[in-house]
This record gives sequence, structure tokens and C-alpha cells, in this order.
Amino acid sequence: MQTNTYAMDESYALYEQSKETLCGGVASNLRSAMKPVPLFLESGSGARVFDVDGNEYIDYILGYGPLILGHSHSELLEALSHRLAAGQQFGMQHRGEIELSRRLVQLVPNADKVAFSGSGTEAVMLAIRLARAYTGRSKVIRFEGHYHGWSDVIYTAFPMNAEVSASDMTALAGTNGQSAHALEDIIVVPWNDKDRLEAVLKKSGNEIAAIISEPVLCNSGCLHPLPGYLEWIRERTRDLGIVFILDEVITGFRVSPGGAQERLGIQADLVTMGKAIAGGFPLSAVAGRREIMDLISQGVVNHMGTLNGNVLSISAGILTLDILNRDEGAAYRHMEKMTERLVRGLKALLAGHGVAHTINSFGPVFHVMFTDQPEVRHFSEFLKRDAAGYSLFVEEALRHGVVLRPSGLWYVSAAHTEKDIDETLERLKIVVQRLF
Ligand code: PLP
Repeated sequence: MQTNTYAMDESYALYEQSKETLCGGVASNLRSAMKPVPLFLESGSGARVFDVDGNEYIDYILGYGPLILGHSHSELLEALSHRLAAGQQFGMQHRGEIELSRRLVQLVPNADKVAFSGSGTEAVMLAIRLARAYTGRSKVIRFEGHYHGWSDVIYTAFPMNAEVSASDMTALAGTNGQSAHALEDIIVVPWNDKDRLEAVLKKSGNEIAAIISEPVLCNSGCLHPLPGYLEWIRERTRDLGIVFILDEVITGFRVSPGGAQERLGIQADLVTMGKAIAGGFPLSAVAGRREIMDLISQGVVNHMGTLNGNVLSISAGILTLDILNRDEGAAYRHMEKMTERLVRGLKALLAGHGVAHTINSFGPVFHVMFTDQPEVRHFSEFLKRDAAGYSLFVEEALRHGVVLRPSGLWYVSAAHTEKDIDETLERLKIVVQRLF
């Protein structure tokens, strides 16, 4: 079938220029995976972005998750421009910090106190430091397929082969240059597998400072915890004096006002949050139980950062949370409705063209996998998806005006309308017709 596809000549040209002075031509490694070329954008509005070649796209990357209100939300930008006129960064205290920390304590379950930082990676670093200081232990258990940022203290690679996945508990370096000593403190366990975790806890429970987990494994297939699994971890960590950290950098404020903790009815000792918290401005937070968080107040744990509490980010955080929670959470209801419409349409479209697939959702975030497995609950099953076939679909989608992540993870914002969703499905219909 012959259809017009987007030309991206200017993006190609700028990418070549960029590579001369910017490492890899992109500001974060992952972005170089975009095919046929990492797009150079001119602007964004609502659910749409516009590139330097004048093409318009419907966006489901949403800045890798933060743009929960969509691009250039007018109320947010107007309020921030007024706020900016009074100064952008003090390195001293301001009322906004009190206001936002109060909101977090109200919204997030089990959050007695809060600490702010700039990125999800930093929030996770702080949570792990707190756990080590609190327990006097050094080892951290993390799970296969989860992502907790790129710091040496937690970043690892996984065998990307379903057969050898989790064949042992050794943490593999996530990158050259990573400290071998940091890796020695990380134990990697398959997720959703009580027996494997229990075996580690039996052997080394009293050396473990923290267990860190995404509440739903959004980074690898949007895998949900098996019934009772997180509750069991909660209980075992309590018994063994281990700090249970839920990494809500994706799910915090996205899947409900109180994040996955509220939605799943589970309470961790510490929660890390980022992305959606400030609608696209750099902000992250750790929140949790007073006796752990107070290690910072007591000066026992150091937490620093020149830009912590930055006026712009804090103000964006306050307003983003206010907009999301307005009208008894109308924005959340809208995102769910739009996601259901989109997922229903995608399933019908793929099934209609004989494309075997599974879609796992968690509120307005979902993962599309090309696979003939009707259910994907484990990382080893996620690894069996047709990643190459999906990647071709994503590339073709870009040529037809839909921006997707090659990993399969989609975000829907409060700005996505029924028109956006229906137009997305029309554009993807052409993509599917061309490919299958
Ligand atoms: N934790 C989770 C669950 C994430 O998905 C990410 C980023 O995608 C991070 C931590 C790291 O956040 P950042 O990229 O802001 O450093």
C-alpha cells in the first residue's frame, strides 16, 4: 500500500551536526535508539509535538513520562512565568518547599517526611543511603528487568536471554566504568518469584539493608505483581529489619494521587518519586517513615544538591499536583478513559491483522508486546517478545506521525483527547496495513 510518510531530512542533518560536539548526538543514551533518526523537535502542545522538518506527531513518549499534563500546559506555564519573574533559584529556603512537602505528606501513603532532589536516579541513591544508614547493613536486593536509574549503587545489566535469565544472583555491570565494589553489594533476584527471594533472605537476610522494587514492573512489560507477592515482601522485610523501598518514579502521581501504594494498598518504608511530580520540570523526592527520614534531620545522613528545592521545579510540582487533583481527580479519570479507548482500539487493530500481542496496563501507562503468550507475568516471558518486530512497528509509526518508545512502554497524558486517540488509531492502521 502506498502512503505518504514523513521526511526527516533536517533531523538527519542536525543529528550529524550534534554528534560532532555532543556525545552520541543525544543527551541521554536511550534516545539514540529512536529510528529512523533521533528526532529534533521544535515545539510541543497538548498531546502533539512538532519537529524541525515541520512534521506533527501524536506523542506517547511524553518526555519519558513526566508530561502528565501534556506539552506546554497553558495554566502551568503562565503561573510559572509569573513565579520566575521573582527569581528562579535561591539556594535558600522558600515557602514553596513547605507547601509541596505538605502536599506529598498528605497524598503519599506512609510519608511522614520528604526530601527533594532533581532526578529519579538521585532519589534512589538517597533512599539506598538512608536504608544503609538505618540498618547498618550494606547489601541491596533488586529485581531483574527493573530500572532504578544509572548510578553505580544500583545499575546492573541482565542476561537478555530467557533461558539464562536469573541463572545466578551475580550483579552484572550495567556499563564499563562501574565500580566492582558497588556491584558486590547488589543482589539480583527474579521478580514475582517468592521461592528465589526467600532462598536469598534465608541465606543473607541479616546482611540486607534494602529491597527495592518497582510496584508494577513498568520498565519491562508493565508486569503486575502476583497476588500477595508485594504484601509478602512487606511482611518479610518487616520481620528481617530490611527497608522496603518502592520505586514510584514512573507510577508516583501517575496511577493515582497516592501512586501505586494507594492503588495497590501496599505501604513501603521509603518511596522514590520523580517524572510526573513536576509535569516536566526536574524534580524528584524520597518520602517515608519518620524514623528513617529523620536520619537526614539529625545530620546522620547527608543529602545535598545545589539545585534542590529549585523555585521553578517546586512551583511546577505544586501546580501539577493541584491540577491533577482538581475536581476530585477528574484528570485521572480522563487519563484512564483515554487509555482504555486507545488500548481497546490497538487490540482490535492488531488482532484484525493477525498480529499476536499482549498489552499490560497500569492506569495511564501500558506496555505493548508482540508475542503469542496470552499472559506475560515474568521477565523471562517478557524477554520472549518479538522486540525486533515491535521496533519496526515503532519506526513505521514515527514515519506516520505517532511517537512511541521502542521498548513498548506508552504513556497517556491528561491532554490526550478522544480526537488524539482516534487519529492515533487511524495513523497506526496505515502502519499495520503496510507491515502485516
Ligand atoms: N526509577 C524508575 C522506576 C525509572 O523508570 C527511572 C527512569 O526512567 C528512574 C528511576 C531514574 O529516573 P531519572 O531518569 O529521572 O534519573
